[in-house]
Amino acid sequence: MRVGIFGGTFDPIHVGHMIVAEQVMDELDMQRVIFVPTGVPPHKDASSVRASAEDRYDMVLAAIAGNERFVADRIEIDAGRPMHTVETVPLLKERLPGEEWFFITGADEVSNLLSWKDPDRLLEEVVMVAATRPGYDLSRLGHLEARLKNFDRIFPVECTRVDISATGIRRRILQGKSIRYLVPEGVHEIISGRGLYRADGKRTRGELL
Ligand code: ATP
Repeated sequence: MRVGIFGGTFDPIHVGHMIVAEQVMDELDMQRVIFVPTGVPPHKDASSVRASAEDRYDMVLAAIAGNERFVADRIEIDAGRPMHTVETVPLLKERLPGEEWFFITGADEVSNLLSWKDPDRLLEEVVMVAATRPGYDLSRLGHLEARLKNFDRIFPVECTRVDISATGIRRRILQGKSIRYLVPEGVHEIISGRGLYRADGKRTRGELL
């Protein structure tokens, strides 16, 4: 079985993530994609996370509902401390079935791979999938070639490019603009119902953002 691990802050999960997960899964013939929301992210400044881990996890569950190949795992949230991908991956491989393992990222993330912990060891554990993302040219990954022993374990996948970011979504909410259709319907309901990302935290149940 081929399994993809999709790690992210998912603050919030959006349509860009869903398209990457679906198209990478299809392209590489994966049977399963495991969404792994970060608990305390090691890379991003913790203050940049605006929703709680539980809210982010609930949004991931809402987003994957109805897709039988998508699952979510709380391993990093339950750890309650920052976990590096190179630590998370072997734990997931131990507890879940799978023969061939991939880690799904956007090309922007992969180009920062040298700042990750033990990138070469991580590339021994998984093939790193670099999904195209608007504004990030895959040729920018070239600088990694001389620096990584296992550079050939980075696999670019051309996906439909969708220029959506979680930062942009949070900004729109703060500006009082609609985020409908930028996130799956169930995620939109959670954001509205719980008043997430709003400066005043006001709930808007029954009202469209
Ligand atoms: P933020 O704007 O808060 O930095 P984000 O939208 O990049 O968030 P993350 O949760 O940090 O979302 O992303 C998880 C993974 O999904 C990363 O590897 C990122 O590169 C990838 N990703 C996010 N949005 C897209 C997109 N629109 N197209 C392709 N890849 C994406």
